[in-house]
Amino acid sequence: METPFDEAKPILDKLHQSGFEAYFVGGAVRDFLLGREIGDVDIATSAKPEDIKNIFSKTIDVGAEHGTIIVIHEGEQYEVTTYRAESDYEDFRRPKSVQFITSLKEDLRRRDFTINAMAMDVKGNVFDYFHGKEHMKQKLIHTVDSPSERFTEDALRMLRALRFTSQLNFTLSSETEEAIEHHVHLLDAISVERKTAEIEKLFMGENVKLAINLMIQCKVYNYLPGLVGGNMQLGRLSSFQFPYLTSKEELWTVLVYFISPPTIDGFLRKWKLSNKLIKSVHKNLSILDVVLKNPVWTDLLLYKAGPDTAVSVERIRSILINPEQIKENVARVRSSLNLLPITNKSQMAVNGHDLVHWLNKEPGPWLAKMIEEIEKAIILKEVQNKSTEIKEWLLACSRDFDQSY
Ligand code: ATP
Ligand code: MG
Repeated sequence: METPFDEAKPILDKLHQSGFEAYFVGGAVRDFLLGREIGDVDIATSAKPEDIKNIFSKTIDVGAEHGTIIVIHEGEQYEVTTYRAESDYEDFRRPKSVQFITSLKEDLRRRDFTINAMAMDVKGNVFDYFHGKEHMKQKLIHTVDSPSERFTEDALRMLRALRFTSQLNFTLSSETEEAIEHHVHLLDAISVERKTAEIEKLFMGENVKLAINLMIQCKVYNYLPGLVGGNMQLGRLSSFQFPYLTSKEELWTVLVYFISPPTIDGFLRKWKLSNKLIKSVHKNLSILDVVLKNPVWTDLLLYKAGPDTAVSVERIRSILINPEQIKENVARVRSSLNLLPITNKSQMAVNGHDLVHWLNKEPGPWLAKMIEEIEKAIILKEVQNKSTEIKEWLLACSRDFDQSY
């Protein structure tokens, strides 16, 4: 089977043919060496952005001034970045200037952690100038050069360090941990969006408990939206089995459930989450509340929740109550969902026009109420979702309706 590196090899070959150096770098090399699933394959090269644009026919300029050009090859996008050094960091978060350089080693030196600072050539030879492999064996996150300096340059690296402990199940080197404790306040300079991205990855990782303990130990919570002074709340999360979750919606539902912020909306907005995500979390929480009190999925509740929410909420409920049964429980909810006659209003076999016509009545508030009654009767299988059946059923009980509408 072709690996993502095989697929990207022609890009390296082409750069070589034009007289430039080019290597696979960063997370893909790390994940390959760890035997983990490989994400995006990033490429570092001695070619300048202008050269990259000339060599490849399909490119997107996403930041030539920083040296990054996206090359599209066989429908896939690859970030191709010119070797660079960064200097004069401003506000603990971004380099004031970048210099294009000619040395692979110096390009790798600017990277955050030793395990992320390795390169690999097309033959699979690994270039490891900063003990990346050794730290991998020791399962250690350690910055390239002094942690204090690297965190002062870019404070986000502290959150990245924690997220990698969770994702890879690694520990922090003691020097790296001490530097985080010391420089944690610099996280104030980091934008919410960048924090959110790292925290989501952290909670979707393998060993969330380890990362939570470090967050508490290093007082990172004081610099996270809605969590100032929240060591207790964070502690409550540490026994939850996060790896069973399958989406960001589920993740934020669980975070709100355990953290119980003063207002759900205020908390989620502080993290600058999308309206769509916030809406889903609200819905998940309201249904979760119901099934935690009474763990029975009635047909009406399943219908009200809808398939996505029902499955997510059952997954969360099962993780809370009995993680061994997640699969079975979720499968049961799925099959109950499949047995529902309809999953939303638009599938009803009648509409307002039909009712006005059949009952020969002027439209009015009665209409919405009646549609709701019919909808309920369909879900409860009191009537089949067929126009003729509904009409018959309606006329048979029209006397009841007459009284109540
Ligand atoms: P992921 O699997 O989440 O993509 P990654 O290690 O590939 O992890 P990216 O954010 O894609 O992380 O960054 C790619 C590479 O760029 C990293 O492996 C690292 O070498 C370097 N890098 C990313 N962010 C920083 C940073 N803030 N400071 C220094 N180097 C960084
Ligand atoms: Mg990456």
